[in-house]
Amino acid sequence: FAVIHCGVDRFSVINHSLGNRIGDLLLIEVANLLRRATRPTDMVARLGGDEFGILLEDIRDATSPVRVIQRLQEKLVLPFQLHEHEVFSSLSSGVTLSGEQYEEADVMLRDANMAMRRAKAQGGGGYVLFDRGMHEEALRRLDLELDLRRALEKHQFEAYYQPIVRVADGRLMGFEALVRWNHPEQGLISPAEFIPLAEENGLIVHIGRWMLREACTQMRAWQRAFPRRPALTVSVNLSARQLLHPDILPEIRRTLRETGLSARHLKLEITESAMMEDAERAIELLEVLKRTRLQLMLDDFGTGYSSLSYLHRLPIDALKVDRSFVMHMHERIEDRSFVETIVNLAQKLGRSVVCEGVELPEQEALLRELGVEFAQGYLYSRPVTAAQAEMLIIE
Ligand code: C2E
Ligand code: CA
Ligand code: CA
Repeated sequence: FAVIHCGVDRFSVINHSLGNRIGDLLLIEVANLLRRATRPTDMVARLGGDEFGILLEDIRDATSPVRVIQRLQEKLVLPFQLHEHEVFSSLSSGVTLSGEQYEEADVMLRDANMAMRRAKAQGGGGYVLFDRGMHEEALRRLDLELDLRRALEKHQFEAYYQPIVRVADGRLMGFEALVRWNHPEQGLISPAEFIPLAEENGLIVHIGRWMLREACTQMRAWQRAFPRRPALTVSVNLSARQLLHPDILPEIRRTLRETGLSARHLKLEITESAMMEDAERAIELLEVLKRTRLQLMLDDFGTGYSSLSYLHRLPIDALKVDRSFVMHMHERIEDRSFVETIVNLAQKLGRSVVCEGVELPEQEALLRELGVEFAQGYLYSRPVTAAQAEMLIIE
């Protein structure tokens, strides 16, 4: 047999303002459609929320579950009549087929659920067949999460530093602090892998707290060691969860006080998507943060729901244009115009611009032409250890 786990991605009502009741009606309708798309011997169950489980009997391969899913999808994507409303919707589905590895249906349902999450992550409206690889990946994530919980007390994190330079003359202006995890067995693990995990389980608050202190301590030590470079700054990434944490403000103040770094040498990088989680509250917070005189950067600019219309309301000092635009700007006119638009806008608003991910001299030449002030990328240096970063200050 086969198990399908499906979830409603979204639904739209054409001639009505959205309300809970219409959502309930849609779910009842989806359940009816599911029953009609399957045979009487198959089992359809609402699993809670907007998710359903289906058990199909007498199945040899994936063809019939996939057909069921396609029949449903066809019915949902086109606008249809639901009472007096016209609605359309889409589903994501995950499928598992029984084999010798399955003894219990709930394990199949769990795996189908995992496959459905994958389908959702791919943008929704489709299906994913579960395979062993996904299972192993899930196990690895669980292991990693356990290790992550202990990593802080075992001192396995390390701050790396990547130079930020002035485009006009290549002068070193400061560093972005980037966390690295020295895993005892797996070696250096990229933050791209464990930061999302830490975001999910809340550990990011502790890791971030540690990074902030580490970066401020380091910058203060460099200022003492290199009195001729008093203007260097350090940028620290702040995740959404950290930003919205009630203690964030006293914590930053305390860290500055205890490390002796003055606020104007600290920059906080906040992503656009972190801002959007609760925009009004974030704006308020940023305004309070600004009063401590530190600098605020809008990170990964251009990747989220960048709404240029609210930009002027944000009390930020600079925009960091995301690597994905910089990467292709020398070969794709659209990306180049995007950067150009941002630079013009930033100038009008009195904000500066940093371009990240600069790898090629051609890209740098374009930045110079467009009047971008600051850049960061492998062209200048990869993120390096504190000891290596120090050599870059001496140069
Ligand atoms: P990010 O804030 O956008 O950081 C820039 C990333 O781009 C870094 O990846 C950096 O190594 C990489 N990068 C810089 N220049 C180049 C280049 O020229 N080419 C390419 N291909 N890549 C370049 P990294 O260090 O792996 O960090 C990934 C992300 O993890 C960061 O993206 C940031 O979102 C997050 N992250 C890292 N450290 C922290 C942290 O301490 N706290 C929080 N909340 N997030 C962090
Ligand atoms: Ca950043
Ligand atoms: Ca970025």
